[in-house]
Formats: sequence, C-alpha cells, structure tokens
Amino acid sequence: ELREWQRALRAQFPIITGNPELAYLDSAATAQKPRAVLDAVQTYLTTTNANAGRGTYTWANRTTDLVEETRDRVKRFLGDPAPEQSCVHFTSGTTEGLSRIARDWLPSLLTDGDEIVVPVADHQANITPWLETRELLARQGVHVRVRPMPYQRSSGDYDHTALAELAGPRTRFVAVTHVHHVYGGNMNVHRVRRAVGPDTVVCLDAAQSVGHLPVSVADLDVDFAVFSGHKALALPGTGAIWARQERGPSFVPAGWSGTPHTVGIASLAAALDWLDTAGVDRIEQWTAALAARLTEGLRHLDAYEVLGCQTSLAADSPVQRRLGIVTFRHRDIDSGDLGFILFSHGFMVRSDHHCQGGAGERTGSVRVSLHVYNTAEEIDRLLTVLATLE
Ligand code: PMP
Repeated sequence: ELREWQRALRAQFPIITGNPELAYLDSAATAQKPRAVLDAVQTYLTTTNANAGRGTYTWANRTTDLVEETRDRVKRFLGDPAPEQSCVHFTSGTTEGLSRIARDWLPSLLTDGDEIVVPVADHQANITPWLETRELLARQGVHVRVRPMPYQRSSGDYDHTALAELAGPRTRFVAVTHVHHVYGGNMNVHRVRRAVGPDTVVCLDAAQSVGHLPVSVADLDVDFAVFSGHKALALPGTGAIWARQERGPSFVPAGWSGTPHTVGIASLAAALDWLDTAGVDRIEQWTAALAARLTEGLRHLDAYEVLGCQTSLAADSPVQRRLGIVTFRHRDIDSGDLGFILFSHGFMVRSDHHCQGGAGERTGSVRVSLHVYNTAEEIDRLLTVLATLE
C-alpha cells in the first residue's frame, strides 16, 4: 500500500520522471519540486505578481494576503499551539535564519557571565553564528562562556545526560539540531528541555526534519525553530524562522520593510500543502525504510563504514532513529573519488565534509540522502555498484 502511495507521489516530480537513468540522492542539500509547487509558481507569476504590504490594487493586496497566510501556514505545519503568541519571519534558508537570531536577538538575552551551549559537530550554520555573537559581545565587555554540546559518537546523538550535568543557572541558550545532516539520526530534542529546565531558550535547527517527519514545536518544547523551504520542496532561496514571542520583543520587524521573496513564499505555501496531503508521517516511514535497507546492505560489505547511529530501523529503538540520511566511507577509496564513480553510474550523492563544523569528522565521506521520490530499486542498484568496489 505504501508502495502504491509512493509511486503516485514520485510521478508528480517532473525532474525525477524525466531522468529515469539518474538517481537523485542528495535531498539533504536541496529537494526536488513536485508539479503542484511548479504550478503555484507559474500561477502566482501569471496572475498575481506584485509587491507586498503597499497596495491599493488587487494584485498587491492578494500578495500581502499570501505572505500573511503563509506565516499562519508555517505555524500550523509546525504544530504551533498558540499562533497568536508566535511569529514567523521569512528567510533564504536555515543559515540566514540562525544568523538572524544570533545577530538580531541573542545579544539582548545575554549578560556578563552567562553561558550558551553550542553543538560542536553540527552543521556550521548552527555553530559559527553563536560563536560570532560571543565575540561581538566580548568586544563590548560582555563575557559569555561557550559550553560545547557533548555527543555520543557511537550513536550520533547528543549526550543528554552530560547536557543535564553541564547545564546550570547561567545557561541561557542552547542550540540544537533535530535531525543530524551527517549522522542521520533523530536527535531526541524533547530530552533537551528536560536536561536544561524551563528557563533556558532552546533554538532548533530543523533543516533536515521539516518535510521529513512530523515536527511539533509544542512536543519538542523549543523557543525557536528554523528551516529551509528549499529542502522542504519549495523554491531555492526560501526558509523561515518560527519564534515564540513571549521570549522577548517580537523578532519580526513591525510593518513591512523591503520586498519579500513573494514567489518563494507562494512556493512554500504550496509545498507545505503538498506535504500535508502526502502525509509527512508516511514520508518518514518510507525514507527511514530505504535508509535501513541501505544501512543493512552496507553492513554486509566489509569495505564500508557507516557513520552515526547503527540502529537502523525506525520505531524499534527508544534511543535513536535513523531518518533518510546514510553517510559512509570506503576503507581505501577517497570519498571524492567514490562520489565521482557513483555519478558515472548515475547516482547523485554528496561527497566531502558536508559543511560539518567544529569537531566534525576529520575525513570525508559519502552521503546518501532521501526523499519521497526515492525507491528501493535505486537503493538496490546503488548497493550493487558499491559491492563491485569492495
Ligand atoms: N543546518 C543543517 C542541519 C543543514 O543540513 C543545512 C543544509 N545542509 C543547513 C543548516 C543550512 O541550510 P541552508 O543551506 O538552506 O541555509
């Protein structure tokens, strides 16, 4: 049944169906777009295009409505329990979102002697901005201590027990990631709140989770959630910050300033509608099963080492679950070479350090990242090629 469901959805991605000899396995970098998103772009540009927030005519008013309605759409998609007490700000992606929080909001939270917790092996976008804020404040005589977020290397998850021990009364802010972009695991963010207590601000990098599994800011109990629209089937150059407003002054500038990426926002609304109709829980099931198939296959090939959590199948592990990302390296073949060899067989993967920051992996690796359009047949073909390189 899931197979039929997937077949119908895959057929809605023209770039996928138009290139049957290729397998796109790099959705963690950016995702492909379904017809509904392409249509929404075409419709917006051919019927409505105008600037937002400054209209005395229908197209401008409709564009303003589109932007405001999409803010509400993002809130609903993220399971916001109190939409009247939150705000959504559109960005070009997760990097800009996290940087905006670090630059425009974090300094107002921190005073001399405070501590922030920074995950040292996350994506650079979730490390560098916080360190830059620390430096900025130090130049103003406000000294903030950075506590590295501990990891369990064996599982690729945060070490929640160690976090509870290092968090203290001066811990004002914690940055975390929902699904790790290299290790592929669900980072059990709901345990972070338990570890740090109610008064610490928790900021979630949801770049790899929005569109891949149900994300509920209520269940995770976070204060900020940041994601990239383009990884959630919308156009490049899209993304959003969701912020709980009670945490401080409104993060979104009052009124309108500048011209928003209106067509990108139209694409984001269409993408979230599409994902809701498809069923994000089923997308999670589908991609986790494919990732498990790949992890399992690699286990039988001695030349390969899989990074991150080794528990592969969704739902069966209370500790950690692998979503649709599998990163591995070959004992002898350089990961850049391996990426090129795989492309010569039609597989598009990522092969380098994956923008991992700080204390990330020292040697490169190949990352296979999946979305709803990928198939078991692609995974089996990939495993067959990998086996010939043993
Ligand atoms: N955080 C994580 C976990 C990511 O995987 C990525 C994208 N690779 C980013 C942040 C940055 O996203 P963007 O390129 O859309 O700014």
